[in-house]
This record gives sequence, C-alpha cells and structure tokens, in this order.
Amino acid sequence: MKRYFITDIINKVDQEVELYGWVNSIRDHKKVVFIDLRDRSGLVQLVGDESLSKLSVEDVVYIKGKVKKRPQHLVNPNLETGEIEVEVVSFEKLSSADVLPFNISDLGYDLDEQIRLKYRYLDLRRDRMKRNLFYRQRVLSEVRKFLASRQFWEVDTPILTKSTPEGARDFIVPSRLKKGKFYALPQSPQQYKQLLMVAGVERYFQIARCFRDEDPRADRAYGEFTQIDIEMSFVTQEDIRRLVEQMIIEIIEKVFPEKKILQVPFPIIDYQTAIKKYNTDRPDIRESKDENVLAFCWVVDFPAFEWSDEEKRWTAVHHPFTSPKKEDLKYLEQGEYDKVRADQYDLALNGFEVAGGSIRITDPNLQSKIFQIMGHSEADVKKKFGHLLKAFSYGVPPHGGIAIGFDRLLQVILNERSVREVIAFPATSGGVTAVMSAPDKVSDEQLKELGIAVIEE
Ligand code: ASP
Repeated sequence: MKRYFITDIINKVDQEVELYGWVNSIRDHKKVVFIDLRDRSGLVQLVGDESLSKLSVEDVVYIKGKVKKRPQHLVNPNLETGEIEVEVVSFEKLSSADVLPFNISDLGYDLDEQIRLKYRYLDLRRDRMKRNLFYRQRVLSEVRKFLASRQFWEVDTPILTKSTPEGARDFIVPSRLKKGKFYALPQSPQQYKQLLMVAGVERYFQIARCFRDEDPRADRAYGEFTQIDIEMSFVTQEDIRRLVEQMIIEIIEKVFPEKKILQVPFPIIDYQTAIKKYNTDRPDIRESKDENVLAFCWVVDFPAFEWSDEEKRWTAVHHPFTSPKKEDLKYLEQGEYDKVRADQYDLALNGFEVAGGSIRITDPNLQSKIFQIMGHSEADVKKKFGHLLKAFSYGVPPHGGIAIGFDRLLQVILNERSVREVIAFPATSGGVTAVMSAPDKVSDEQLKELGIAVIEE
C-alpha cells in the first residue's frame, strides 16, 4: 500500500489507508479517543479506542485505518477533510515529542522572533509558515516554467568569487591555500551574467543567492537574499520590462487568483515625477489600501550618478555597469555628471522596490571612464575589473537585465510583515542565523591553517 497525504484520502471512503504524521491534538473521551492527525497537506480526524490515549501532542505516528464518511451533523466545514474521519485499525508511535517551547496553532506574530528563529523547525510547523513555504516553491516553479518556455537557460555561477560592487560591503572568506588572500561572496551575479552574454548564452536566468553585509535593519533578513536574476542579449529596455511584466502577471493569475493587479500594463513613471509626486523612487500608486490589490509601476530615467558626501566621490545609483542614456552621453563629456540619466528601470509594488535592472555598458572605454568618474584609478580599474574589460574586447553583444527581489515580492503578495516570514531559515535582523546561531568562534587550528590571528576587542 502506498503512503497517502491526508488530503488525498478524501475520496477514499470505505478504503483502508496508511497515514504518517504528527498528533496535532487529542480529545480523550475515555472509551473513544479523537486525534487530529497532521501532515504537510492538512489535518484529519482519527477515531479509536483508549489505546490511542497513550499518544501525546506532536508525537510522530503511523496509522492504518479505514476512511469513513461522517454523518451529516458531524461534518466539520472548517476542515478540508471535514466530511470524513479515519477509524484506526492499528497504529505505531514512531517518535515521542517533548512539550513544545511555544504554541504552533496560532499565527505566531506575538511571539518573540528570536525564540521563533531559535526553534524555526517548530515555527515552520504552523499553518501560516507552511503556506508561505508552499507559495515560495509554487512561484519559483512557475518562474522556471515561464522562463524555460521563453528559451532561457538556468546557469549557476560561483559563490566563492571576487568582489562585485552593488553598493554594499562584501562578506569575505579567507583562503587556506593562498594565505592572506580572500574570496568575496557575490553581492549579485552581475559580472558573471554579463560574461555569459559574452559567451553567447543570450538568455540567462538564475534563482541566485546574493550576499550583502549591510547594517541590520528591522525590515530585512540580514546577510543574504534571493533574486530571480535575468540577463538577455540583443534587447531594449522595453523588451526586458515586457518580459518581466508578462511573467509576473501570468504567475499571479495562476498562483494567486484572488489578487487583483491594479493597472495593466504597469504604469511607467519617470524618476523626477516619482520624486515630485510621491516623494520616493518606489511609489505606492494605490488610492486605498485593499489587501488584495497589487499596484505595480515601473520607475525609469534614474540619474546615473549621485554624489556621496561621505565618500567624497560620485557613486552609481544602480551599479557601475549600467549604461547612461545615449542622449545624455554629451553631459558625460562635459563633466556634468549630475545631468546624466541611466538606462535603468526599477519595479515598485505597493511602495516596495521589487526589481531593478538596466541596459549595460558594452564599450570598454566608456566602462573604464565610468569607473574613473567613480573615483577608481586606472590601475585600480585594471586590477578589479580588467577581466570584464578584456572580455568586452572579444565581441560583446548589446545586453541588459534585471533582478527581482524574490523574498520582498513574496512578502508583499502574501501581505506578510517582514521578508523573514517568507524565508525558511532567515537570520535575525541583528545578524544571528536561525537555529544554529552563527557567527561563531572557530578553533585555533582552523585559524592557524588560514594564517589568521584574531584581535580580541
Ligand atoms: N545586479 C543588479 C542587482 O542586484 C540587478 C541587475 O542590474 O540586473 O540589483
């Protein structure tokens, strides 16, 4: 006999089935004992004799039983399996459970998040968190289907790599083989995806993990996040916007049919208007905040550079690989950097930035010039980005791309309070990883192998 998920047995009335799961609750009426059995798919009521009363809540059990239709007056309309119950023929306790450190039958918002993350494997047992994990994989599988149907190739790129600037601090990893040298974890696969365009891949995507050592903020998961990263050759800004727009609309219609997209096609707002009218570059264009309305809009024509008072240099608003708009190249020549607009496009949803991308620079001279405007010396450019400039000298297709902040997108669609609610094992906003409490000390031997001495504070 094969193992069924609980919700698969609804139409198996009068058949014998085997189930596995957790004891969700027990109602002991002495001679008759009722148990709600839970697996990933849902709950079902079990009925048996007093032998069941030796089970405790959250024990893992195997059940052999017969599916029975409930009499009409005992149907539970709140339960997907509410029209049936399972008469237990035999059962086995596979493991016992201690009392859980917190209740998992409620939403969990009121609980201290540190405790939830310490016991994340239990926190994920609650319905709401299961639902979030369910939608996360549903959306990702639809993304893969959609992009494959448009002839994209999924290509993975290294995690141990060299710094790629996206405006944050790098996480660095010491090398044992080359003592005193370090890898950087990628802030995004930006340079690799551009190199894949040079390689002739033409349409790339990756569900990419990005690492940015930014200061803790309450509304972020610290350290890492997931992007749907896309790059295409021989396209315009409009092509990329249209692709992403179609993908998002199709997936929302399929996976979240109860949601309403406020405006299709997504309105396009230029940066200056966004700032003037909404005072932000990620406007919320809803007039009222209905929980099922998704208001997307594109923001375009960003300035290419902004002056950093702190660093006393021009920095890229998007990243340094973003092409200036053709018609603004003259300002670049004239040194009027604040007037140069970028061929950049961001996607906002209900006031959150959920994607950003650009058409890239492919002229190695222009690319070096941009690096120099941003304060890198010629020698520095060669050392840090020589590989990219060299690649561009061997026949580079015009290309552009975008990255969708997947955690954020899901958070907004699911009306969740923070991105951490849609990630299985997020770090706390203070940077401590769930369950395993990294960062942690390493042994003296490990440090010695790496040639590293720690300065104690
Ligand atoms: N690499 C960019 C980012 O992570 C996205 C892009 O330009 O494709 O924001």
